Parts: sequence; structure tokens; C-alpha cells
Amino acid sequence: MRVNVVTMFPGFFEGPLDTSIVARAVAGGQLDVVLHDLREHGVGKHRQLDDTPFGGGPGMVMMIEPLASILAPLESTHRVLFTPAGEPMKQATLDDWSGRDDVTFVCGRYEGVDQRVIDLFVDQEVSLGDYVLAGGEVAAAAAIEGIARLLPGVVGNPDSTRSESFRDGLLEEPVYTRPSTYLDQEVPEVLLSGDHGRIEEWRQTQREERTRERRPDLFENGQ
Ligand code: SAM
Repeated sequence: MRVNVVTMFPGFFEGPLDTSIVARAVAGGQLDVVLHDLREHGVGKHRQLDDTPFGGGPGMVMMIEPLASILAPLESTHRVLFTPAGEPMKQATLDDWSGRDDVTFVCGRYEGVDQRVIDLFVDQEVSLGDYVLAGGEVAAAAAIEGIARLLPGVVGNPDSTRSESFRDGLLEEPVYTRPSTYLDQEVPEVLLSGDHGRIEEWRQTQREERTRERRPDLFENGQ
């Protein structure tokens, strides 16, 4: 699939695109990331991207024209603006995007984008969480990594993406590896028993208890 990223800072993505699973997805041809540099579409000889807000107030607003000149030709793609005012990004959001041929991520800066950009050129507004970052690039990088690991053939064992947190409305159970004793901390006896029925029963109980304690909102929804 192809992911377009609209950003004032294409250099930001050098590390995330060159690392681990995302790099593997790009090298394997499952993922193509196209960076669109907003500055190249800036207005006038100073390549202006922002202007003062109508009605006054602090900060600057991203202008329509630079964004429109990139987003209008990408109309056939699913265009997503990252904003704290959007719907929360969830595993289901990544599932949806990873099943598409093309997604376009718009990274805001300053106080945000002129509302008419959203009305005319954006299909979905998505938030990374209930906090304010300086720009949408971190959200785009998180989304790209979350998508990459869902693309066929990128993660070696597809079961690992099918059985993890959020898949069935539950958080994942605790996991352990060698050594079986560290300081005075023991691995739960059941995991060393070789009894697969008991192990699965223990894991399911752990998933339910953890979710009830840590994320009662998820647990209630799953019941
Ligand atoms: N004035 C905006 C507000 O109060 O909602 C915040 C603007 S923020 C400083 C600049 C840009 O960072 C936003 O336009 C958005 O693209 C991005 N951003 C910041 N926090 C975000 C979040 N939690 N989720 C997604 N994008 C975020």
C-alpha cells in the first residue's frame, strides 16, 4: 500500500522509515511512503505556509493554498488530518487503514489548519491521544509503524498480530522468558508445566483481570 505524508518536516521521517519493521515493509515492497514537502508549495517568494488568525488570538494558522495544492490531486486517497480534536486512533483505525490501497496523512503545525482545508480536503480527523504535541509527525510515524506490521508478510508470524492487545477487547497477558528465576522473582509455575490447556486458561484469566483493573472502559465494552 501507499502512504502519502504531508509535512513541513520530511527529514523527521528518516529515522522511523529506516528502522526495523517499517524499513522491512518498505524494502519488501509492501509499503511505499511518499513524503510531500509543504514548503515546496508555500506561497510567494518566502514560501509562506502560515498566517495570522482571523478574529485575533495567539499563534498562526496553516494556510489553505499550500495544503490544497497537495491534497486536491490526492482526492482518490483516504485523507487523514492528525489533530487533538479528532477521533482517537485505535487498533481498529489501523486495521481499516492497512486494508486500503492509499492513505494520506496530513501533519499539522502551529495552531492548526484553516477549517476550510478540513471541510474541502479531509476525510477523517484522528487524534493520537488527549495531549497536545507540536505537530502531527509523531502521530503519522506511529500510524505508519502500526500499519506496517499489519501488512501481509511483514511480521514473520501473523499470529502475533492476531493475538495481541485490543484484538478481542482485552489487553495482552504478562509474558516471560529465561531465566525462570531472577533475583527472587519466579515465572508463574503454570507456564513451566507444559499443560497447554492450563496455560491458555491462565492467560485468558490474566487478560480479563488486567483489562478489568487497568481499562474498565474496554472491559465493559467487551462484555
Ligand atoms: N491548537 C491546537 C489544539 O488546541 O487542538 C493544537 C495545535 S498543535 C500545537 C499543532 C499540530 O500538532 C496540530 O495541528 C496537529 O496536527 C498536531 N497534533 C498535536 N497534538 C496532536 C494529537 N494529540 N493528535 C494528533 N495530532 C496532534
